[in-house]
Amino acid sequence: MPALNATQPPFGLMQDWPLTVDRVLEHARVNHGHREIVSRSVEGPIVRETYADLYARARQVSTALLEDCVQPGDRIATLAWNGARHMEIWFGAMGIGAVLHTVNPRLFPEQIAWIINDAGDTHLFFDLTFLPIVEQLVEKCPSVRRWVLLTDEAHAPPAGKIPNLAIYEGFIAGKSCEVTWGDFDERTAAGLCYTSGTTGNPKGVLYSHRSNVLHSLTSLQRDSLGFSVDDVIMPIVPLFHANAWGITFSAPAVGAKLVMPGSKMDGPSIYELMDAEKVTFSAAVPTVWLMLKQYLEETGKKLPHLDRIVVAGSAVPEAILRSYEDDYGVKVFHAWGMTEMSPLGSMGATTPEFREQGKDAVQRNKLKQGRPSFGVEMKIVDDNGNELPRDGKTTGHLVVRGPAIAGAYFKNAGGNILDKDGYFDTGDVAHMCPLGYMQITDRAKDVIKSGGEWISSIDIENIAVGHPAVANAAAIGLAHPKWDERPLLVIELKPGQSASREDILGFLTGKIAKWWMPDDVAFVEKIPLGATGKLNKLQLRQTFRGYTWPEQAVAAR
Ligand code: AMP
Repeated sequence: MPALNATQPPFGLMQDWPLTVDRVLEHARVNHGHREIVSRSVEGPIVRETYADLYARARQVSTALLEDCVQPGDRIATLAWNGARHMEIWFGAMGIGAVLHTVNPRLFPEQIAWIINDAGDTHLFFDLTFLPIVEQLVEKCPSVRRWVLLTDEAHAPPAGKIPNLAIYEGFIAGKSCEVTWGDFDERTAAGLCYTSGTTGNPKGVLYSHRSNVLHSLTSLQRDSLGFSVDDVIMPIVPLFHANAWGITFSAPAVGAKLVMPGSKMDGPSIYELMDAEKVTFSAAVPTVWLMLKQYLEETGKKLPHLDRIVVAGSAVPEAILRSYEDDYGVKVFHAWGMTEMSPLGSMGATTPEFREQGKDAVQRNKLKQGRPSFGVEMKIVDDNGNELPRDGKTTGHLVVRGPAIAGAYFKNAGGNILDKDGYFDTGDVAHMCPLGYMQITDRAKDVIKSGGEWISSIDIENIAVGHPAVANAAAIGLAHPKWDERPLLVIELKPGQSASREDILGFLTGKIAKWWMPDDVAFVEKIPLGATGKLNKLQLRQTFRGYTWPEQAVAAR
């Protein structure tokens, strides 16, 4: 082929267009400027703005940040619910090359402070709800030089303990919209999200502009989220959980209307907003769908507008799947992913082979975690990294690679995380069938996921072994009817010692967050150990599979 460009290898001659996320919002402003983002505000009222408004206000955020000496690469943190203001900060920070760091407010303050310090955040924007937490953080987070309360003067509390406090509406009022967005390398860092789903301290996943844009294009495939301009989308999954599964980018990319639930995620509030705004699509963890289902059953209400939902974060229980599909006519898509994957990895779209077998086969197949979309490569491997057959029964470590999958953690925490072929070990154990459907059967990583949030088994164990009668302790996650998984604490006592369930739980009280408290304690002769002397959790989970929780534990939660 003749050289097409004298100075370069034989490149194609198409325009070079860096994949930066500001272009997504630019597209929404130009083509869908009138479409709405409806938010239940923390102050109470429902607030409406359009993509054109969001664009203008996000640019004002950019100007305010630049005037506050924010440099490219600085980390701008949020402690906020899903709402339009939160999205304004996203695009305002990312547009100027700063890194938007979403912090999970459900962690306890010491963990939040640890994460903010590790990230070195310079600014923290927070909802009124989190004022008491922020008051505890101020002393502990020296890198934060501006705290911005997400409200207006009328709702601002009297001057308190927070130095360098700005009130959001005043912070951006009158600021210019004339600011340059983008114009940098598409590999520039855009977002930071810490995950506790690994061993040791939480680790930061550092998304790039390119990875965010590619992830939204991937997720817009019809067999994935498949959004359209016709959709009214309610992300119940928080923005602080892996970009609300990418919805903050994929919804504006098609001009879909957004409905943001704010802090109210109980059944009645979710229903009210869904019904009033005629929501067609929503995404959440199974616990949320269970709560809404209970509300529907109690009230006899239906879901006439809702077309489809995505259930992910934990395996979808069969009862939820069948009830939404059969009783309410809502299509259920079961997805699997990880913060490290931006986060979507697989989706349970139905192939013709299953459709031909009828509804029951389709629904049973939907209990699997699904197939990867273009953009994600996955396989299962044995302990030595050899690929295992896709026969629907051989289980192995699930490994993945792709342009929206982490290549390393922030500050290289945990060192190298890829194998020689660039695959990332998800820590999940799965099998795959010949048609490519993946099913998670267990978890090799040492964490427990309750209602979509991680509980550190190691933290619980480290405290439990401090009890004078305890020789060894293992916290394992077991299936729970409401929270998907809850911790069971397995205890091996020292010879000749005794302790009761109440002794052990009493010993943990005050040392861990209340929602981390194991729901029960089981005493065993000997906790099984693996070849390297580590607790053999896989074996323990086998032993306790089908465990019956004490009635008070189920009722209490
Ligand atoms: P996170 O990074 O918090 O999104 O957690 C990711 C982890 O949650 C995965 O590695 C799985 O262990 C678990 N997970 C996510 N989705 C599912 C699902 N559909 N079924 C079972 N486990 C899931």
